[in-house]
Amino acid sequence: MGKEVLIDEETISKRIIQLADQINNDYKGEKLTLVCILKGSLYFYADLSRKINLDTELEFIRVSSYEGENSTGKIDFKLDLDEEVTNKNVIVVEDIVDTGNTLDSLLKHLKKQKPKSLKLCTLLDKKDRRETEVPIDYVGFKIPNHFVIGYGLDLDQKYRNIPEIYCFIEDEEREQLNEDRERIVLQLKYGNRR
Ligand code: 5GP
Repeated sequence: MGKEVLIDEETISKRIIQLADQINNDYKGEKLTLVCILKGSLYFYADLSRKINLDTELEFIRVSSYEGENSTGKIDFKLDLDEEVTNKNVIVVEDIVDTGNTLDSLLKHLKKQKPKSLKLCTLLDKKDRRETEVPIDYVGFKIPNHFVIGYGLDLDQKYRNIPEIYCFIEDEEREQLNEDRERIVLQLKYGNRR
């Protein structure tokens, strides 16, 4: 099993500019609250928020749902919003949507506060692993079913501060990895809106 780059720094930052452009267009003239889901989305959130040119408030939530490589299925709030998001335009910023269970629970929590609008933005979408359907409005990259680390993503709290996104693969998966990388670059060129 080896650690290989799946998405490099340049590709990440180019895609973030595209996502921020979409958000700037979609919310023109509106105020926005960006909710960071700690810890995994810290770099994505920091980079994305600095490309958004709207009147923006920053909020943070921390939940835990993972142990090692497996979702525990239930979420535990470690840190909640400073202020409720009633009547606000909210975008939840996630690192990765995998089973969808974490976001589903979070959305239910935020909807109770009656925001004016509620959208989801994730850097990575592992669609094949979905157990609970969640509506995602902005997707950085759709990726295949690899466990990824780096750019905020951890394995037992390690590797978060690596600037690129890596995945762990077996030797015989190397050819497949090249195809996966090509598909990722195509999403940068052509987008991946549903
Ligand atoms: P879900 O509830 O959608 O299964 O999982 C969401 C959370 O699980 C993410 O916010 C992330 O923290 C963690 N997660 C899911 N897939 C991965 C992965 O491939 N790598 C890492 N490091 N974390 C993941």
